[in-house]
Amino acid sequence: MIQNYKIGIGYDIHRLEENRKLIIGGIEIPHEKGLFGHSDADVLVHAIIDALLGASGLPDIGTLFPDTDEKYKNANSINLLQNVVEKISEKGYKINNLDTNIIAQAPKMMIYIPKMKQVLAPVLNIDLNNISIKAKTKERLDSVGEKRAIEAQAVVLLYKE
Ligand code: ZN
Repeated sequence: MIQNYKIGIGYDIHRLEENRKLIIGGIEIPHEKGLFGHSDADVLVHAIIDALLGASGLPDIGTLFPDTDEKYKNANSINLLQNVVEKISEKGYKINNLDTNIIAQAPKMMIYIPKMKQVLAPVLNIDLNNISIKAKTKERLDSVGEKRAIEAQAVVLLYKE
């Protein structure tokens, strides 16, 4: 039975810059800065994608969606996530549950978490109860604590029936 389970870990960080939208967990969050990147720089969705790819033994996000490819410029990361969920389901995997951290000194993430879960659940094909999103600060330490970047971590458990 246990050999039907696969666990995966994902991590991401993006710089906060002016004149960018702040997109995290598939939703736009009002803030004076946004995350910088080739795509929409959705740090949480990127961490989730890498956890799914790692668990299923597929190449990582940078290999699948290279930032040198114009196709992914300003890409909606939810669409990339959808693509990855299709790839893992082709390999016979389903998602058991997902646990994540968003690490940001500002803005406060807590009030946006229910909406993020509602966006992610149908894409991941799992119940809201199987998605955990936790918000942390960095106690004003390091680049994240100085509001120059936002980090995310994700752990996912896949299974085959
Ligand atoms: Zn990223």
